Formats: sequence, C-alpha cells, structure tokens
Amino acid sequence: MASNSNIEWTESTWNPVTGCDKVAAGCDNCYALTLSKRLKAMGAAKYQNDGSPATSGPGFGVTLHRAALDQPRKWKTPRVVFVNSMSDLFHAKVPVSYVQDIFDVIADTPQHTYQALTKRAHRMSRIADKLNWPANLWMGVTVENQAAVGRIDQLRDTPAKVRFLSCEPLLESLPALDLEGIHWLIAGGESGPVRRPMNEEWARSLRDQCVEQDVAFFFKQWGGRTPKANGRVLDGRTWDEMPPRGDYVMAS
Ligand code: SF4
Repeated sequence: MASNSNIEWTESTWNPVTGCDKVAAGCDNCYALTLSKRLKAMGAAKYQNDGSPATSGPGFGVTLHRAALDQPRKWKTPRVVFVNSMSDLFHAKVPVSYVQDIFDVIADTPQHTYQALTKRAHRMSRIADKLNWPANLWMGVTVENQAAVGRIDQLRDTPAKVRFLSCEPLLESLPALDLEGIHWLIAGGESGPVRRPMNEEWARSLRDQCVEQDVAFFFKQWGGRTPKANGRVLDGRTWDEMPPRGDYVMAS
C-alpha cells in the first residue's frame, strides 16, 4: 500500500506487511493499532485479520500482503519510502524469506530511498547475516526509554548502510548514549488523548549528544493533543538535519 505520508521525515509509505503485537512501553498508544481498527470497520481489505486481544486488536493481526510487494517497481518518480508503517518488519511472524523478498524489491528499485524502523532489534540482529542488505535502505530502531538502549548495539550488528534511532515517543532521559556508527537521530514527544509528557531537558540532551558525536539530529515535535499542537522549535530553531550525503543514495 502506498499513500502520501504524514510522517515529517519521509514521503510515502509501503506496507507489504500489516499488523503487529505490543512489545514495549513505546507501543502503549500505537497509532497503527488504532488506525487498523478504523480501517477494519470501514471494510478495508488489508485490515480484516484480527490479532490477539491482549497484545494486538481488530484488523491488526500480522498479515503478509504479497500483492503489495511489487508496488515500488511501478513508481517512476524517485521518493523516500517508509517500509511497514503499519507493522514491524522483524516481527517473529514475518519469515526471513519474506524479509528478503522485501529487501530484494528495495535493491531492485535504487531510484527510491527506503526507511524501516523496528522495536524487534534482537530478531533483526539474530537474522542479519541471513539477509542480503540493500544499499538504499536506512535501518532504524526505536529507543524510547533506558530499557530500549540495548537496541542500539543490535542495530550496529547489522550491515545497514545508514543506521538511525527514533527516540519517539521519548519517555525518559537518555543520557550518555554511545552513538558510534549511528548516522541520524530523530526525537519527538507523544501525541493523542492519553499522551505521556516529554521533558524539555530530555530533548535538549539528545540534541547535545548528537552535536558532540557528529550525528544528524531531527527534532520532530513536542507532542500534545495533536502532533502539531506544540510545534517543533527547540531552543529557538527547528532541527531538520539528515544523514550526510555520501552515506546513502538519496532519492532526488
Ligand atoms: S512495534 Fe510498532 S507497530 Fe508494533 S505494536 Fe509497537 S508501536 Fe505498534
């Protein structure tokens, strides 16, 4: 599935897998779960498979969509594509062979730049050497709290050409991160009716660590009732840095 994306740092989404299960604190208010419920109610064909009520929900059962695999091959104009915005690429129910099928499409469409993000860094690192990694894939892990910091080492275990961290929703202070081998860090607060607040100092500390360790920093939003409710200015300016050119093949 492709659509114009509302994610500030990407252009399109592509969902050859939908559905997931909650695994971490960052999943508590999963937007994909909420959206899947709505899409199921609207009769959307890709969202009719229910997941476990304890960890997932209506329309959010893990489902492989082979018909969606070839979609990027039809896009002529180069674009930045977020892979699996409605799932987690390294969920245990996504076979290694299917992850490779996705990687093969990415490799076969070098006109596009792809971004994927996982909270299942342990599985990603375990199967990393069974996969052929495409050069035009940026691979990221979510690091929302201290308990998730180990995912950074697991990301470093992969041969991804560009590695990034998504510290969103930022739930606590993350001091003294080792950013060796990391090219980009995105930070942001949570939005929605039951959002958890982000402290200004947590965002500032991540910005300072990026500056000190020469990592591109992107500040996405403060969070609030809606994603844009409180803007995205930190210390008088916006932070829109991207990984340095030369580390990746940019779409345009
Ligand atoms: S890993 Fe991502 S998609 Fe899966 S439940 Fe958590 S937030 Fe949602």
